[in-house]
Amino acid sequence: TIGMLCIDKNGDLAGACSTSGLSYKMNGRVGDSPIIGSGLFLDNEVGGAVATGMGEAIMKNVSSFLVVELMRQGNSPQEACETAVKRIIDKNPNYKEFQAAIIAINKKGEIGSYCIQKGFSYVKYQNNTNTNISSKYYM
Ligand code: ASP
Repeated sequence: TIGMLCIDKNGDLAGACSTSGLSYKMNGRVGDSPIIGSGLFLDNEVGGAVATGMGEAIMKNVSSFLVVELMRQGNSPQEACETAVKRIIDKNPNYKEFQAAIIAINKKGEIGSYCIQKGFSYVKYQNNTNTNISSKYYM
């Protein structure tokens, strides 16, 4: 999955995601990426979130929507991502065997990310500079 979240100088937000889906997926499978609220959610009054990894886990928990709602309630992007990823594991500990990762941005331009398995990283682009960021992780 390629997921992207943007904020412009006016503080307006945008997001997008695209995926080829999971390897060896069943014919006809629809993953989380095209499902608004699962693979991507954004509210220009609050923030945005985008997910990658095991789409079934993300869809069952409507994870991107959850992250934005947690930010609406006052959580930082980092706190929101951690809560949403831990929700996936709490609801089904078997998902610890898989990867799921979420990145988020809020209206102030603060960002956060969290994933199940060590090894997910993403890039922050600001002021003509790319910064590679290793996500915090559950295990
Ligand atoms: N989330 C995608 C899916 O489940 C896969 C991926 O992120 O690579 O279809």
